Amino acid sequence: MARNEYYEDGELVKENCPRCGDTVLADHDDRKHCGKCGYTEWK
Ligand SMILES: [Zn+2]
Repeated sequence: MARNEYYEDGELVKENCPRCGDTVLADHDDRKHCGKCGYTEWK
């Protein structure tokens, strides 16, 4: 089971992919990435 969620100030922060809708974006240092469709959101 993949861990795509991360915590910020003690609260669980999840951002869904705008393309898939039901897929949580993986958070990287400089971008967020959807492993399903390949959508990337630069910070
Ligand atoms: Zn996606």
